[in-house]
Amino acid sequence: MDQILHISLLGGTARALVACTTDMVEAARRTHDLAPTACAALGRTLTASAMLGSMLKGADNSLTVTIRGGGPIGALVCVARPDGTVKGYCDEPRLDLPPRADGKLDVGGAVGREGRVTVVKDLGLRDPYVGQTRLVSGEIAEDLAFYLTVSEQTPSLLSLGVMVEGGRAVGAGGVLVQPFPGCPEEDLKKLEALAPRLSRVSGLARAAGDAESLAAAALSGLPYEVLEARLARFACDCSRERIERALLSMGEKELLSMIEEQHGAQVSCHFCNRVYDFTEGELRALLAEGRAGKEAQEP
Ligand SMILES: [Zn+2]
Repeated sequence: MDQILHISLLGGTARALVACTTDMVEAARRTHDLAPTACAALGRTLTASAMLGSMLKGADNSLTVTIRGGGPIGALVCVARPDGTVKGYCDEPRLDLPPRADGKLDVGGAVGREGRVTVVKDLGLRDPYVGQTRLVSGEIAEDLAFYLTVSEQTPSLLSLGVMVEGGRAVGAGGVLVQPFPGCPEEDLKKLEALAPRLSRVSGLARAAGDAESLAAAALSGLPYEVLEARLARFACDCSRERIERALLSMGEKELLSMIEEQHGAQVSCHFCNRVYDFTEGELRALLAEGRAGKEAQEP
């Protein structure tokens, strides 16, 4: 069972989020038939997105993380909601690279580092909040820690890890540590001292099996208190209605060409690969609906 724990650290001078996401990442691997390197890259991004999404307040809020680094995996896109659900995809799910010298999967090589991380938060206001920073290493944890520290002005230590064995995700998790303003120097030193242990978070997640045991292993030695636990899972919220709206938003010309040249359309959802079939008749009905909608809008 995957969970994200919200934790108060050191008597309240800092907070931590600890996520065990092995099942979530394995579900993403099966959905997209991810090769090991792509599984690690997308799995790390999904884990971080789910953690950041779990900090949103409103039930209909959402958070989208997009990473484009110019590397062979292309773009990584993940959308998370406060209820712990997350969906995501990458452009090249079958991408695999030789492991790095230290045995870790070469996520930085797959993602590249010539690009940006973009975070869009839809908080139900008129305009979404958009933050963007340059990539640091393409390893994702460092890139998102830099984003949080610079763009959101929240100093952050973030560790993400995915272990793939026999083609399957067998351990995945993340730990985010954020000192609050005014955190004493001696507490900051204790938090920094966690870094070497957190660099092995995928192994810790595998050995722990759940978020509570992962928190105990990752934060051992520091006093902490679990404030909240949320389930985390890989799930897509696409529907025929959403796909219809997407088709309508492509415009009349595009719809007409599907009708006249292809006599129908097969549209698959990027996030879960579900295929939606539209017959020529259904497309014509959509086109009529779009025209009626346009007329209704005109004064
Ligand atoms: Zn879908």
